[in-house]
Amino acid sequence: MGLEEKLPTGILLTTVEKFVNWSRAGSLWPATFGLACCAIEMMTTGAAHHDLARFGMEIFRASPRQADLMIVAGRVSQKMGPVLRNVYDQMADPKWVLSMGVCASSGGMFNNYALLQGVDHVVPVDMYVPGCPPRPEMLMDGIFKLHEKIKQEQFVERPRPGESMDAFRRRTGWTGAGDPSVPDKAATQPLAKSVPAAADPAAERAGSLTRGARRGGAR
Ligand code: SF4
Repeated sequence: MGLEEKLPTGILLTTVEKFVNWSRAGSLWPATFGLACCAIEMMTTGAAHHDLARFGMEIFRASPRQADLMIVAGRVSQKMGPVLRNVYDQMADPKWVLSMGVCASSGGMFNNYALLQGVDHVVPVDMYVPGCPPRPEMLMDGIFKLHEKIKQEQFVERPRPGESMDAFRRRTGWTGAGDPSVPDKAATQPLAKSVPAAADPAAERAGSLTRGARRGGAR
């Protein structure tokens, strides 16, 4: 006999982790940040026909402090890189980045010195949407996949099913004595999900603008 049988109907049991992730996935607020032609498709996605408000994304926020999703819609020039990073830094945590279109994801057809060959040189990207330009349906598909990713996030890194503690330590660098998912252990480790900490943010920003300086910054 489980606890569920003793509860009156209408009571829903879940974990705090699942509840918080569900809330976050259902209330993403994007920052207003359009860079090129892809931004037209992004605006269309928010307009009446596709209506992003159905998914809790009521309006694009003009202030990054009120936004937790950055949709990089369009090619990113070398000059725009530090500005984009500045906007990202001002966004509230936790935050996510969606790279929209081939230009934002890899430079696309603009393989030249003026453009970043991928926005993941300056910010960690959670979801890539291909296409030139991606249609609103593709952007929405990327947003739905990001929702699913957010729902899987763990507040504390835990061993995967069947994973030994030795393998877990090798994978995560965990140095604690016990299982980090056991709550009464003092040794808990926050999930490393945002940008790697830099001693000097300005130096990190400058370094990351160099092609290939920090490839693979995606989470
Ligand atoms: S991917 Fe295509 S539509 Fe999007 S910014 Fe590049 S050229 Fe424009």
